[in-house]
Amino acid sequence: MTYFADFGLAEPICRALAAKGYTEPTPIQTQAIPVVMAGRDLCGIAQTGTGKTAAFALPTIDKLAKAPKALTRGGVRTLVLSPTRELASQIAESFTQYGKFMRLSVTTVFGGVPIARQERIMAHGVDVLVATPGRLIDLIDRGAIDLRRVEVLILDEADQMLDLGFIHALKRIVTLLPKARQTLFFSATMPKAIEDLAARYLTDPVKVSVKPAATTAERVSQAVTFVNQGEKLALLQLVLRGEGVDRALVFSRTKHGADRIVRQLGNAGIEAAAIHGNKSQGQRERALDMFKKGQVKVLIATDIAARGIDIDAVSHVINYELPNVPESYVHRIGRTARAGAGGSAIAFCADDERPFLRDIEKLTRMKVDILPLPEDFRSQVAKTAAVEKAAPPVARDVDPRSMAARPHGNNGRRGGGGGGRGGSGGGGSGKGSGGYTGRGPARDPRVVVNPVRSGGRPR
Ligand code: AMP
Repeated sequence: MTYFADFGLAEPICRALAAKGYTEPTPIQTQAIPVVMAGRDLCGIAQTGTGKTAAFALPTIDKLAKAPKALTRGGVRTLVLSPTRELASQIAESFTQYGKFMRLSVTTVFGGVPIARQERIMAHGVDVLVATPGRLIDLIDRGAIDLRRVEVLILDEADQMLDLGFIHALKRIVTLLPKARQTLFFSATMPKAIEDLAARYLTDPVKVSVKPAATTAERVSQAVTFVNQGEKLALLQLVLRGEGVDRALVFSRTKHGADRIVRQLGNAGIEAAAIHGNKSQGQRERALDMFKKGQVKVLIATDIAARGIDIDAVSHVINYELPNVPESYVHRIGRTARAGAGGSAIAFCADDERPFLRDIEKLTRMKVDILPLPEDFRSQVAKTAAVEKAAPPVARDVDPRSMAARPHGNNGRRGGGGGGRGGSGGGGSGKGSGGYTGRGPARDPRVVVNPVRSGGRPR
């Protein structure tokens, strides 16, 4: 697996990435960043939502940082051409954020706003200019912009530029640029006309391409249920006991959360296993093996642990918590549509997760169907609360980090974190002996499967 830290990007860039919470590059970033850092031209086929902006912005900023140069009047070190104002603003915003710990000047020029102000800004020269082709030509004609010292040229969404009739402007701009430069060319599609355009700009380019993230999403039937964070456990039990749920992969945002769900399901008589970064390789493999063989039908995973999982016939993917990175959602639900099969993905969305849902819908360009809470939901919430109350207290449960991460932490009611409730009394209360309890303990005692209320150490 690749991490941003592996690329050797300049320290202020790494700091900016950490501030944004990005640790792992997306596929287009993994492919493009080393190539661009090596100074090669690049032809990338990638859509919005793949992380393509950072794929070109990060190595470009790195280049500027590692070879600082004085700016000249009207001068531009990096020119980014964008088909629309909106995209131009977005790209400029990304450059500004990734370069926020360095002295990096970023500006935009596009039509519809007074040209005089743009002329004044350009008088000092800029590190990064993001421009739409029409306004760029106007400013060049007024003598306000000088492209002779451009080091990196980036064309983003080139196919849109053709559609919008910018071809003549583009042909003219290329004649004003120095021959010795690096060029990065991005387009969502690569029809013949775009290939010809690319050939005009690029020298011996490396080609990289990523499939649009949305393709998997189309094969999976997706639903979202709005539910309070503290009531998700009850909903999970109802879903897992529903018809046709043969093998369910449940995603939790944190490792502690994954362990807690395993233990809570165990309290309710549902066998589950967890895989995440705190488990040893052996534990993970054994849990996976049991899941594959159908010996345990519920696997709780975090995103990172789930990356390498290749299991056919996962009937359900349950997003117990929505990921804050929309691409993760697409990876998650892709687990249930292996080998051309369909599958079901259900997301449990608490109030504070609605922005994540919106990001997901934007990325996949699909609206997720809303599934109302089941009819027997309230009674299940009451039963679950009773079972949880009677369960033996577990110190690990009140992990302060997982509590902080979720304002409506579903363990709020456990408050005192193990303050002598006693009542570990066997399989007594609530659903004690229902569901899977009859199967006895896990076949392999070392496996991370929950001990189903048999009084053993919850692990
Ligand atoms: P883009 O395809 O460039 O429009 O990016 C899509 C979204 O993904 C933007 O909101 C980015 O901020 C975000 N993003 C880009 N790279 C990463 C990454 N490595 N990890 C998490 N989010 C990312």
